[in-house]
Amino acid sequence: MSRERVYAIVDGVFTELWTVADFIWHHPEIAHTEHQSMRVLAETLERHGFVVQRGVAGFPTAFRADIHVKEGAPTVAFLAEYDALPEIGHACGHNLIGTAAVGAGVALARLAKEAGGNVCVIGCPAEEVPPPVKVAMHERGAFSGVDLAMYLHGSDRTTAGGRSLALDTLDMRFRGKASHAAAGPERGRSALDAAVLCMHAIELLREHVPSDMRIHGIITNGGQAPNVVPEFAALRYLVRGPTRAVVDAVVPRVIRCAQAAALATDTEVEIENVGKYWDKLNVPALNAALLEEAAAAGALDVREPPEGAASNDVGAVTYAVPTATLNVKLVPDGVSAHSVEFRDAAGGEPGQKALRFGAKAMAATGWRFLADEAFRERVRGEHRAAVARARS
Ligand SMILES: [Zn+2]
Repeated sequence: MSRERVYAIVDGVFTELWTVADFIWHHPEIAHTEHQSMRVLAETLERHGFVVQRGVAGFPTAFRADIHVKEGAPTVAFLAEYDALPEIGHACGHNLIGTAAVGAGVALARLAKEAGGNVCVIGCPAEEVPPPVKVAMHERGAFSGVDLAMYLHGSDRTTAGGRSLALDTLDMRFRGKASHAAAGPERGRSALDAAVLCMHAIELLREHVPSDMRIHGIITNGGQAPNVVPEFAALRYLVRGPTRAVVDAVVPRVIRCAQAAALATDTEVEIENVGKYWDKLNVPALNAALLEEAAAAGALDVREPPEGAASNDVGAVTYAVPTATLNVKLVPDGVSAHSVEFRDAAGGEPGQKALRFGAKAMAATGWRFLADEAFRERVRGEHRAAVARARS
């Protein structure tokens, strides 16, 4: 087994990897502005022999780095993310996601010839904001030829799998007619009334949708002044469900809540679907292998995924390519991402551990996929079954 050789390569380049992770952590760049972060990741890959294309799929801060050793052979991709959050910085630990993908890529690339396959690292910007970039990258061919995708995320435990919900983001903009709210309310038509009525209708709709849906929203514009009948009001709602098909069935009903509210209040509504996220399809054999490798590499607190779920833009990719997320222990139990504690862990010693264990586990799983045909076929078979189930 080449596990020890994978470990030796990751350990050998670890100082270089941590320098990159530390640089990105100290230079947090928000969605679509990740120029320095992309530069250090891409340059590291080039130093290790990858051919890097920058600005792929029409996104200036996206990249794809390839080591192509054999035509027609399977290709393993490691997905990098590197955008930060506004104000708080790398509180989602994307400095580790980007660098772990590079580390795993560099390690597997050295063994690629022997394993009989190709390796790539795909740089995916702007994970934190809609619209979902990976969906567009997938549609524009950035994942072409990829047979397996993996990426790392920090977590309060080490786990693989877990759910990720399909999601539509709806912006609903209501337009009415302004008037003096005391002197001439009968001349006005309140856009805020429409928004409030729409929220009520959505609350009533809840009873009649699958119970595992999550529908939640805010008033993004509630009017201009209390003595003016609001001529404009807006809502942003997130409609989430277990599968893309379930969300597709419910979204038109949410839209009708907005249309009904506009009709009742004599206002107009304009609805924009800002971004569609797919649920994440799991491949049990792949998750099990990845978790086994993570435990072997030394990852801490290995256990089952948590019950709750949010959404991630990798979902669309999982419908096309067997994909696994390795969550690696980074923070104490119950500490969530997007917190100061998470950020500090991602820039400190827990981040170093997560990076080292995660890069080793992903590279070793990649080796197994390339070198072990029976494993590869099992992963492919389970993936086909998961796609068929989700579409049925
Ligand atoms: Zn995040």
